[in-house]
Amino acid sequence: MSEYINITFPDGAVRQFPKGKTALDIAKSISEGLARKILAADVNGQVWDATRPINEDVTLKLLTWDDNGGKNTFWHSSAHLMAEAIESMFPGVKFWVGPPVENGFYYDVDLGDRSINEEDLRKLEVKMAELAKQNNFYTRKEISKKEAIQFFAEKGDEYKLDLLQGLEDGNITFYTQGGFTDLCRGPHIPSTGFIKAIKLTNIAGAYWKGDEKNKQLTRIYGVTFPSQKQLDEYLQLLEEAKKRDHRKLGKELGIFTMDDDVGPGLALWMPNGTVIIEELEKLAKETELAAGYKRVVTPHIAKENLYLTSGHLPYYQDSMYPPMELEGVKYYLKSMNCPHHHKIFAAEQHSYKDLPLRLAEYGTCYRYEQSGELFGLMRVRCLHMNDAHIYCTAEQFAQEFRAVNDMYIKYFKIFGIEKYVMRLSLHSKEKLGVKYVNEPELWLETEAMVRKVMTEANIPFVEVQDEGAFYGPKIDVQIWSTIGREFTLATNQVDFAQGRRFKLEFTNQNNEAETPLIIHRAPLGTHERFIGFLLEHYAGKFPTWLAPVQVKILPISDKFMDYAKDVLQKLKKADIRAEIDDRSEKIGKKIRDTELMKVPYMLVVGEKEVNENKASIRRQGKGDLGAKSVDEFLNEIVTEVKERRGD
Ligand SMILES: [Zn+2]
Ligand SMILES: [Zn+2]
Repeated sequence: MSEYINITFPDGAVRQFPKGKTALDIAKSISEGLARKILAADVNGQVWDATRPINEDVTLKLLTWDDNGGKNTFWHSSAHLMAEAIESMFPGVKFWVGPPVENGFYYDVDLGDRSINEEDLRKLEVKMAELAKQNNFYTRKEISKKEAIQFFAEKGDEYKLDLLQGLEDGNITFYTQGGFTDLCRGPHIPSTGFIKAIKLTNIAGAYWKGDEKNKQLTRIYGVTFPSQKQLDEYLQLLEEAKKRDHRKLGKELGIFTMDDDVGPGLALWMPNGTVIIEELEKLAKETELAAGYKRVVTPHIAKENLYLTSGHLPYYQDSMYPPMELEGVKYYLKSMNCPHHHKIFAAEQHSYKDLPLRLAEYGTCYRYEQSGELFGLMRVRCLHMNDAHIYCTAEQFAQEFRAVNDMYIKYFKIFGIEKYVMRLSLHSKEKLGVKYVNEPELWLETEAMVRKVMTEANIPFVEVQDEGAFYGPKIDVQIWSTIGREFTLATNQVDFAQGRRFKLEFTNQNNEAETPLIIHRAPLGTHERFIGFLLEHYAGKFPTWLAPVQVKILPISDKFMDYAKDVLQKLKKADIRAEIDDRSEKIGKKIRDTELMKVPYMLVVGEKEVNENKASIRRQGKGDLGAKSVDEFLNEIVTEVKERRGD
């Protein structure tokens, strides 16, 4: 056996290292500075301890805080650190599991008859900091099942014993840091000293294994960072996000409401929210019309048979509302618009000359999300989707797919979305016929087509294995709000399977029947999620074209009401959404209230304005802009709205 192994790096470079070196050793051989940042290592696609010896030729990526694998390892290791602190404060505590989550980590613990409060969290933070400073190594140990069972039986932790039952002998590892040993698959960061800033954020109840028949455990949440500065920034972001919470703003601004009698996850759009919906639909219709789309309208329900053909039944049944029975036939609320659109395609004969056919609809869909998963407008049960399906030939695919991507980017500009990433989700060879349509060649072919379009169009994208849709590869679009929070907006999917399931055909140039490719796309996602995002993104201060009320006219006293009404008429004639504040309040109060409602423009009218046929203009966020003639203002605002200006 050779004493040297070949390590392949992400850039393709291959270097030789002595067998048994760790990723951390390899990082050190590059630079000490790099080594200080290495949290874990991606070895042949698996995340490993950076301190684990590498004994064979591998592909290696060193993982830092900037990699999800690195960050998750950091947070999961912090859960172990928290467990160590908990055990020192609550001797005899029993542990279930402690995974990383989206922003931090938690551990589910059984404190027996003790309880934990906010004050304890602060004490735990101090204890964790102390243990972190000891810079204890996370050491990995392979252990037999028998020994592992013995260890936790002695400790009296029935939860770990339960976990052990499901594990195979020869595949069990313990990790120890300081005085704490846990049953864990790993990986972990090299030592506790990497953890420099700690915040325990929340205490909640969680049923063991998520089953409410089981005992309720205590779930303790926390978040940690490699530096205090990062924690401070995170807490500030949290504060800002709280102010921008779409549920809070949605209520204050009269955008949407939920009602118990209507049902969970079913948003009621109030007049102000409906204005935004209509503006978004107007934008979509204009854009799609210009791009050669045709609009269709389809019912909200369909017979069982349609979804059997599409494959939604039985594969997607858990996400659908239960059926209703009518005249001996089962009907389902539609969870997707696709099958209905396919039927519209099938209703007429098509030749290659008619393609691409682009069918668009702001379709209403119903999905069954578990009540625990529902969240404001972000996770709902009724959604309005900016949907369309493009039926095209293989030759037309690249151009169509690119046009769809261009449309996304055009929208991002309009909404001031500066940061976005497109994620190309691919199939997994092992799961063909299970999770993915069993068409290995078509998968590779369509994936290559998509990759080529993205590369040629210079669109930033990342590839992920085993995340594709059932019937083809897809692009998931992640966007970031102005305060840097990430949202999944929409997907753009390629589908080579549904066409065949629905026996969709067109006559090709050789007069033969051929199945079209289908592109599913929804660049504006759903009204629910997109408006939820916009509320946070704009902090409720919508650009004028989207603002429910664009102008508020504030007469200084009742004396000027007639003039105010004249101004209102002028604005309304030009399709500007304007209102008069006709309360007999002081002007200062009227201004403050209008500001709270985040109306873009206020026109203050009093003696001077009436005499000069003007209005004093105040702009949201900018203050007093001085007096202007009403016509001049009108011209400006009409242009601003027409151009859908961002600011
Ligand atoms: Zn662990
Ligand atoms: Zn679709």
